[in-house]
Order: sequence, then C-alpha cells, then structure tokens
Amino acid sequence: MRTVPGRTDHVVVVGAGLSGLSAAMHLAGRGRRVTVVERGAHPGGRVGRADIGGYRIDTGPTVLTMPDIIDDVFAAVGESLSDRLDLIEVNPSYTASFADGTALRVHSDADAMAAEIAHFAGAAQADGYRRLRAWLTKLYRAEFDGFIAANFDSPLSLLTPQLARLTALGAFRRWDRMVRRFLSDERLARVFTFQALYAGVPPHRALAVYAVIAYMDTIAGVYFPRGGMRALPDALAAAASDAGVEFRYNSPVSDLERSGDRIVAVRTEGGERIAADTVVLTTELPDTYRLLGHTPRRLLRLRPAPSAVVAHIGCRAVPPGDGIGHHTIMFGDKWEQTFSDIIDDGRVMTDPSLLVTRPTAGDPTLAPAGRDLLYVLAPAPNLDVGHVDWATQRDGYVGQMMDMVGSRLPSLTDGAEVLHVVDPADWARQGMAAGTPFALAHTFGQTGPFRPANTVRGIDNVVLAGSSTVPGVGVPTALLSGRLAADRITGLPTRRARTQVVQS
Ligand SMILES: Cc1cc2nc3c(=O)[nH]c(=O)nc-3n(C[C@H](O)[C@H](O)[C@H](O)COP(=O)(O)OP(=O)(O)OC[C@H]3O[C@@H](n4cnc5c(N)ncnc54)[C@H](O)[C@@H]3O)c2cc1C
Repeated sequence: MRTVPGRTDHVVVVGAGLSGLSAAMHLAGRGRRVTVVERGAHPGGRVGRADIGGYRIDTGPTVLTMPDIIDDVFAAVGESLSDRLDLIEVNPSYTASFADGTALRVHSDADAMAAEIAHFAGAAQADGYRRLRAWLTKLYRAEFDGFIAANFDSPLSLLTPQLARLTALGAFRRWDRMVRRFLSDERLARVFTFQALYAGVPPHRALAVYAVIAYMDTIAGVYFPRGGMRALPDALAAAASDAGVEFRYNSPVSDLERSGDRIVAVRTEGGERIAADTVVLTTELPDTYRLLGHTPRRLLRLRPAPSAVVAHIGCRAVPPGDGIGHHTIMFGDKWEQTFSDIIDDGRVMTDPSLLVTRPTAGDPTLAPAGRDLLYVLAPAPNLDVGHVDWATQRDGYVGQMMDMVGSRLPSLTDGAEVLHVVDPADWARQGMAAGTPFALAHTFGQTGPFRPANTVRGIDNVVLAGSSTVPGVGVPTALLSGRLAADRITGLPTRRARTQVVQS
C-alpha cells in the first residue's frame, strides 16, 4: 500500500464530519498531533441538526448500522462506544408497508424474522430467507477486509483470492437477480433490495457486492443513539478532544499553501495559517480539487447519486400501543418506475416510496411534551438530471408525501405541522455537488478501485476521506474512509480490532 512519504507528525484534517472525526481519532491514537479545521459551528457535517420550536431535529442520517465500526473508532483512542453513547437497538429494524395494505416487521433476529415471513408469505419464503441470510453473511465476510475496508493502489489490487471468492458468491452479478434466487415474493424482494437506493443505483442495475448494505440493516441490526443522531459526532468529537485532537470550528478553509509536491499549510477565510506535515481533506470533491488547484478530467464525467427531499414534521404524539415503530418504509406500487423517474427521467416519483422515521419512538425528549417528531424522506432527482423547480413545487410535493403518510398511518398526520424541509436546491446551497447529499452513485465504474482514490496524483502529502472516495456513502463507510486515510499516513497499524459478523 502506498503511504505518505516524509514527515507526518502534524496532520491537519479539513472537516469534522464522520470521516474527518474518524481520521483524526485513528491518527491521534497512532501518535500524530492532529488539528481539525471545520467551517461549521459543531461537528457532524451531514449528520446535521436544526432545533426548531422545541424539537431537536436530525437533518441527516437516521438509519444507524454497524456499531462495531463505530466502536473501532473509539477504540483507536483507547475508549469504547458504550462509555460515550447510549445506543438503543431499534426493534423491529423497520416496518415495511406495501401498497396492497400488507405490512412486514423486519427483525434482525433470524428466528423472529423467519417466523414473521412464514406468517406473511408462507414457509417456502421463510426457508428462502434463511438461505438469503446465509448468503448475505458470507458475502459480508468475504468483502469486509479486502474490499470495503481496503485501500487500493490500482485496479490490480483487486486481483486476490478474495476476488475469486466474491465472484463465486455472485457479487458481480445484479443484486436484484441474486435476491430473487432466494425469494419469489415481490414484496419480500423489495425489503432486501431497496437499500440499492442508498448506493444511488436501481436494484436491477446495482452489483450484488452492495447487497452487504442489506446485511448491515436487516441482519446486523439498526440502532439509535439516545439524544438523536447528533449524539454520535458529539461523542466522537469529545473523545477526540480528550485524546488531544485540537478543533477549530467556524473556520472555513480557503487555500492550501504548496511547496513543490507537498502542502505545507492550510489557510482559513479568517486569515489563519496552520502549518501541516500532512493534510486530510474531507471536503466535497469539486471543493477538494479547487483547493488542490487541479481538477482531473474524470471529475467531469462522474455520476452523482440521486438526491432526496426531507420533510421534518411535528404531530400529536401517537397513542401508546399504536404499533408505529422507529422506521417505516412505505413502498409505492410502481417500484421500477420509481428508479427510472428519479435517475433517468429527472422527475419526482410518480408513485412515491418513502422512509418515515419517528425518532421520538426511541427518545421522546426530542419533541415537546405530547408531540412526536417525524422525518419523511423521499428520494428525488439530483440537479444534474432533474428538471423540478423546487421553489414552486416543493410545498405541493411535501403535501403529496404527507397524503401518502396519512393514507397508510393516519395517526401520524393528526395535528401535523411542517417544521422544516430540505430539497435538492437546498442541498446545493449547502455546497453539495449536483444538489445531492449522497455524493457519487455506486455504479461499477465508481466502486472500489474505480472510485476516486484517496491519494492525489502529484501531491505527496494529501489524503482524501469522505463519501466521494473509498469506500463510499453512509455512516459506517464514512467512518471507514477516515481509517483508510489514517492508514495511508501511518501505514497499517500492527493490531487492529476486527469487525464482528453476526452468525446466521
Ligand atoms: C438526508 C441524509 C440522509 C442520510 N441517511 C443515511 C442513513 O440513514 N444511514 C447512513 O448510513 N448514511 C446516511 N446518510 C449519509 C451519511 O450521513 C454521509 O455519507 C456521511 O455523514 C458523510 O460524512 P463525510 O465525513 O463524508 O462528509 P460530511 O459530513 O459532509 O463532512 C465534511 C465536513 O467538512 C466540512 N467542510 C467542507 N468544506 C470545508 C472547508 N472548506 N473548510 C472547513 N470545513 C469544511 C463540512 O462542514 C463538513 O462538516 C445520509 C445523509 C443525508 C444528508
């Protein structure tokens, strides 16, 4: 593995999102002096927050998976997740609600899920589920160390025995087709393929390597930190600080000072100059290349992931026993069209599928007494392909989203008030390329060694981290990208905590 040559004693990390926090903690744990420079007022980046009318709103991720990867970051500075975060297991992980009026609770426990499926679709589908679960587990095991949590120096780095194992498992076939080998019930197939949306690719076009996302959230379990998702970056930043990492908030980085093939200092808009032996950039890719003074031609051809509209809603508290859990996926009827609408045709979904999260199911203190807080996410076209005028259409679209929520779960629209909405034009105003918060789509050409690398040609001491580089988009992956950046700087540490695999 290529590593940064020369001095790496003082590392400046630009960005206190999850990838920057992870890089900082791995580096501090390996004896580097670390300064994190963040333009915002607090850590978290896309794990955003807005406090409105007594509601503590998380504006970014809601589905938290793979706590062992989070624990690995705390362990880098000699701490543990359980000392810093009160993590609640979300059970069921999701409730899937279908257009035909049926609903399925998704459990991470194998027996509970098989029983649920047997009741929902019959014993043959329950058997299929057990075989699917075994396949997903093998896939995850085969992929984790050599593919997901790996630095690649070139596509040739892939040519390992692991590649043969992955190929034999069908990892380079289509995700949708692989899942349908195990499950013939259309509704069940959706439950184990909708995660392709997180990768920004329709399930019938996505590689089965990404089915590990289905492993993560249907087998390894879904969690929620008390205090909301923001508790995660707050806890990471506190542990980093205690480990000696220095944070500069409200400090947008405007320039990098270069000498030969090294960056020697980071400059902020406020006029500060921070000398650096090595720099980790977690900035959005176009900003990264602007700071580096060179945009590779390839950047112009990269495909951004679809975007999302997120509506934050306050409603009357759901009566206890109503059975509405933390996450509900509301599938529309026209599944394939959902993807062609937002990815190919650039319009809003004609028959929406929504993720409805009720964080107050896990922590009622996130809303005023007697109220619930909802987060309703609708996948939407990014601004590259989209031709939606959000300024004029957004309120109407949020109305349609809420009509769908009301038609499936009427109590969630009881006394509902819209607190805050973020649409693709808003994500663009926040500096996100193509108006998407989900960076680059995980197409084959933007996967593994083909994704923009975390090293920079021509500059020796800059390493990239974050969702536009390896391994990709998401909370666990952003944390891993920080670790991969640290590995590029220090080389591989001699001892490393291994991620756990849930036994199927
Ligand atoms: C609406 C939404 C829903 C999501 N849902 C999920 C989910 O359910 N599950 C999941 O796993 N993932 C989800 N994600 C994805 C996940 O949140 C991200 O992939 C991850 O948080 C990205 O972390 P990052 O460190 O790469 O980037 P960022 O969080 O963007 O961090 C980059 C940081 O750099 C700072 N910065 C940028 N430029 C500068 C500069 N010039 N100077 C100083 N600082 C700078 C930014 O302010 C930011 O803090 C979601 C994201 C969003 C937005």
